[in-house]
Amino acid sequence: MDTDAPALSPNAFRDTWCGRVLADKAGEVVRLSGWVHRRRDHGGLIFIDLRDRTGIVQLVFHPDEAGDAAEVAHSLRSEYVVTVSGRVVNRDQETVNPDLPTGEFEVRVTEIEVVAESETPPFAIEGFQSEVGEEARLKHRYLDLRREQMQSAIKLRHRLTSAMRKFLDGEGFLEIETPILTNSTPEGARDFLVPSRLQRNSFYALPQSPQLFKQLLMVSGFERYFQIARCFRDEDLRADRQPDFTQLDIEMSFVDGEDVIALNERLISHLLSEMGHEVPVPFPRMSYDEAIGRFGSDKPDLRYGYEITDLTEVLRGTEFKAFGGVIDSGGSVRGINFGQRELSRAQLDGLIDDAKELGAKGLVWAFREGDGWRAPIAKFLSAEELAGLNSAMGAEEGDLMLVAADQPAKVAAILGGLRTRLADRWDLIPEDSGNNFCWIVDWPLFEWNEDEERWDALHHPFTAPKGEFDPENPGDARAEAYDLTWNGVEIGGGSIRIHKPELQSAIFKALGISDEDAEERCGFLLEALKYGAPPHGGIAYGVDRFAALLAGVDSIRDVIAFPKTASGGDPLTGAPSAVDDIQLRDVGIALRKPPKPASA
Ligand code: ASP
Repeated sequence: MDTDAPALSPNAFRDTWCGRVLADKAGEVVRLSGWVHRRRDHGGLIFIDLRDRTGIVQLVFHPDEAGDAAEVAHSLRSEYVVTVSGRVVNRDQETVNPDLPTGEFEVRVTEIEVVAESETPPFAIEGFQSEVGEEARLKHRYLDLRREQMQSAIKLRHRLTSAMRKFLDGEGFLEIETPILTNSTPEGARDFLVPSRLQRNSFYALPQSPQLFKQLLMVSGFERYFQIARCFRDEDLRADRQPDFTQLDIEMSFVDGEDVIALNERLISHLLSEMGHEVPVPFPRMSYDEAIGRFGSDKPDLRYGYEITDLTEVLRGTEFKAFGGVIDSGGSVRGINFGQRELSRAQLDGLIDDAKELGAKGLVWAFREGDGWRAPIAKFLSAEELAGLNSAMGAEEGDLMLVAADQPAKVAAILGGLRTRLADRWDLIPEDSGNNFCWIVDWPLFEWNEDEERWDALHHPFTAPKGEFDPENPGDARAEAYDLTWNGVEIGGGSIRIHKPELQSAIFKALGISDEDAEERCGFLLEALKYGAPPHGGIAYGVDRFAALLAGVDSIRDVIAFPKTASGGDPLTGAPSAVDDIQLRDVGIALRKPPKPASA
């Protein structure tokens, strides 16, 4: 626990903190309040570890000194809340606890008041077992949050958000709140809807981000805005997603992409340095195409190698159908040189299964042997092709190569996914690789949506194209967009926005959004852009993920005070839950199927 204890005005409960019982208090009588962390009974002598937000201190109850307090001490159980008074003394040398900041001292209690009793907690706060299920932890989250690990995660998050606020305030940014009950904001996810009682048959949407409002604030002339904003996206939950989450949202006027990047490099290096990590700026930049080509990902982890090599040209015209056919249909063949590794047949089969899970039709494995390959498919490739493959992948004798063929975007994603799995399984990330930041730039403006047969905005429809926009060739347009990756995680993303109404309309048109639709969905933005909108741009960071990376925890749930489970529920409050008929009637809603009884 941290020992930086807040300033305190002495009152009936305490005149100091548990974590502050240090040398300067020795010999003094102190008053403390907190929770019974642990109780030990040593034949009449009772020891209590008393815990508050700042730490733990040992209390001792001597039967002959403590009088009635000693009696009370016998009845104490874990998590009782008590107020005590007593003198701070040095512990005997042999009982000093070097693991506790207060471990050289103890408080000899003479007075105690039990402020609140506690039932036996469903899991131990002290000596917490990692097997305690998440459901149980979330159901009793207020107890889970008492644990040291959770206390420090939540404190770290606070330090992070307050450092964000201080830095941005110092740079002249204004913190401005935007509505939670609003209209749909297009970030590409499904909206959470809230029925309106006063305007029957109408719905609010919860914001997927404050995107349109922050742009309007630029039109309003605030120039520099930020907000630590709650955002809501009704997506299918993946392991590390929450339906409601927090963004650090930033927007600036009269800037270009370089200005936004420079401000953000200052911000990130400041935040990390506040948390004890030094990161050099400027951060490297990589184009989207290079990231996809070399790492098969738009958020590449650059802490380890095993890059992807394009083998298409080596194999163009090959007799081997599995590769030749794909190349003829515009696809590509790519591979990873996985180095000197003796994998068993079962492990190799496992990699094929991995590739299939990632969407591949198959995966070829091969070991370099002499000038050729030891591989099931070696006999289908000519000596020249094999030599060409070895040289393209820089393979040395015995190196293991993994090769896949498919349409370019797909094979990139497959090998990118495989590269991540290899890194996990073979522990490829060096311990001391530190914090690796990289800007991904030069994004395509649009991506083709196969299912719907139309263009989608890769970021969002308000991102400005680079240079002139050619509506005849929307697929060629590049975006004034930048994402920041941190150790292979996309931590933030943003862009320069369109500030001219004609261009915004043209982009909507290219996205297949009709004038009517555009008018209905964000006519107010188009209108606002007509009244003198400054050039502007910004970015948003995922605060939960940011805090999780800093805390070194795997799940964002470990840095959110009250998170939802993977299925979007909250075991503590029972949300989401059925509502009664009257509430439904008030908002004019009838359910298609009656709700299940509450107990089911
Ligand atoms: N609104 C964007 C998002 O939520 C961020 C931005 O463009 O500033 O991803």
